[in-house]
Amino acid sequence: MVDGDTVRDATKALDILPSYRHPLPGFDVLVANLEAIRGRIDAATRESPPIALTDVTLLSPIANPGKLIAAPVNYQRHLEEARGSAELHHGNQVAAIRRAGLFLKATSSLTGAGQGIALRTLDRRSDHEVELAFVIGQRADRVARSDALDYVAGYCIGLDITIRGPEERSLRKSPDGYSVLGPWLVTADEIPNPGALDLRLSVNGQVRQQSNTSDLILGVGELIEYASSFYTLYPGDVVFTGTPEGVGPIQPGDTITACIEKIGTMQVNVRAA
Ligand code: MN
Repeated sequence: MVDGDTVRDATKALDILPSYRHPLPGFDVLVANLEAIRGRIDAATRESPPIALTDVTLLSPIANPGKLIAAPVNYQRHLEEARGSAELHHGNQVAAIRRAGLFLKATSSLTGAGQGIALRTLDRRSDHEVELAFVIGQRADRVARSDALDYVAGYCIGLDITIRGPEERSLRKSPDGYSVLGPWLVTADEIPNPGALDLRLSVNGQVRQQSNTSDLILGVGELIEYASSFYTLYPGDVVFTGTPEGVGPIQPGDTITACIEKIGTMQVNVRAA
């Protein structure tokens, strides 16, 4: 549990999790039991000494997501940017999200802010994409957008790291560590309106991306309605909502600072794999 500049061990709150045997469930068991766990966090952390956030390594706040879903080109100005640059589109047709649909990133690509990004293809351009990410809290099958926010467990900052090139998105965006989630999970009660959040990304102190989630073409509710019309969403599934304009290359040695209003700020170091 994060409290200001410190973190406290809340492991005892997990004692209520059922134990599972093969076949293991296809959802994240912590998120599936989040409400019950939250009720136990105060007691669980009472004896835990505060540890400075700078002294811990932040892993992904979701350990076992069943799916990492991502929205392509979900900001109008990023669509225009992608269509206007051969380095970005590589001859692929860049379609608006209603036409392009959604794509999946490998769950093995998930990493936390403290683990950094290990670039695999130093001979190719790899870009940062800062995105509001949200985590599904309960089973959602064909949910209407008007009810959709009830299905959100919480929000994180997402980085959808992307190798530019002609291959399918699901390959170019799925190397190990190319889906950064962090710095922590902010539960949905703290963000009643995810459609009005400033987001910003800088590299080595230089601002590259700056926007607001009010510019999303499909907002959180519409994304849940759209995604759940194709496949059932389960607790722990993560949705990356898409990136605004300003994407650009990263290189080993870079430090990415990503910030989303009401969530926080995370620093992520880039190195060579
Ligand atoms: Mn993206």
